[in-house]
Amino acid sequence: MTVLFPMKRYREIGIRLTPQRIAILNYLDGNKNHPSADEIYKAVSRKFPTMSFATVYSALATLRDAGNVVELTIDPMKKRYDPNTERHHHLTCVSCKRVVDIGIEFNIELPENLKQDFDITTHHIEFNGLCPECRRTT
Ligand code: ZN
Ligand code: MN
Repeated sequence: MTVLFPMKRYREIGIRLTPQRIAILNYLDGNKNHPSADEIYKAVSRKFPTMSFATVYSALATLRDAGNVVELTIDPMKKRYDPNTERHHHLTCVSCKRVVDIGIEFNIELPENLKQDFDITTHHIEFNGLCPECRRTT
């Protein structure tokens, strides 16, 4: 279990780590599929059948605000969650909507004359295309 912060840190940031929140983090730990809130809900409700979708959704927002998970808005219809909080980029399949990590960190610098006086702090690049499976079937 690596995605879980040390307990001390949750106390410091004032987050109560409920069993449900721990279950969500456990499900996300090492998960490279960038699951949606709905997928997380389905998985975690096997262990907590009385838990509502709203609880999962608000837990994800809390964990996102805490910097414990990253919320991806690549697909505007469906937020996805990534336990990998290191800066990295994604490849998205336009057909099946799968999202995969680009494993190697690489930098794309915005040329000085295009920065419009912004102090750039972060960037995220989405590459879109057809994944190998979809290429085979289309
Ligand atoms: Zn695909
Ligand atoms: Mn990712």
